[in-house]
Amino acid sequence: MENSSSKNILVFSAHAADFVWRAGGAIALYSSRGYRVRILCLSFGERGESQGAWKQPGMTIDRVKEIRRAESTRAASILGAEIRFFDSGDYPLLPSPETIAEIVAEYRVHQPEFVLTHSHLDPYNPDHPTANRVALDARVYAQAAGYPAAGSELGAPPVFLFEPHQPEQCEFKPQVLLDITSVWDRKKAAMESMEAQGHLVDYYTDLGKRRGVQAVRNSGRKGIKQAEAYERVFPQVTGDFS
Ligand SMILES: [Zn+2]
Repeated sequence: MENSSSKNILVFSAHAADFVWRAGGAIALYSSRGYRVRILCLSFGERGESQGAWKQPGMTIDRVKEIRRAESTRAASILGAEIRFFDSGDYPLLPSPETIAEIVAEYRVHQPEFVLTHSHLDPYNPDHPTANRVALDARVYAQAAGYPAAGSELGAPPVFLFEPHQPEQCEFKPQVLLDITSVWDRKKAAMESMEAQGHLVDYYTDLGKRRGVQAVRNSGRKGIKQAEAYERVFPQVTGDFS
């Protein structure tokens, strides 16, 4: 297994579980290769994405946050990642200027090899495009010599957008199919730890199979059983077509 312990990755998650469904395979894959994967969880999804928790009698917003924090922490641990919570609220997600500055510092201190975040559009959930914009804006600020933040100026890490729940409505078109077959068991275990949204486990298992079939069709690699789809934000820079 490749050992790249000095290399970092940043993953932006608008809510407590987004990173599990959409990028759990990528996170497990790179952590298994020795990368340090850091999830920046902008909110707990306490209002909009905690249906299961709100069915319990006597539930409060603080209790929902506690439940979601525990679930996310467990899922991140299963995937081999670190997680930082910002508690910027949901519906709407409103990161403060101080939070933006802290995210710029995350970029500068950790100098990620690449970044994963939400799609540009999502008419079903306005917090997801907000997380996209936070990730992209902070990346630009981190590149600016005059921005006051810890660490050193950022280079140009590529940004990959993970697949939204209803991709056609979000104008999401897969450009990268990542083979996650080798870490599928870990993604499944992480999904099953998100009890407040247990209804999504079958959905994302089936989606991974479909993307896996498409990965085989586009590569000829018959061993691929599970894949995740991503879209690039910036052009790939290369000396070779491949
Ligand atoms: Zn979400």
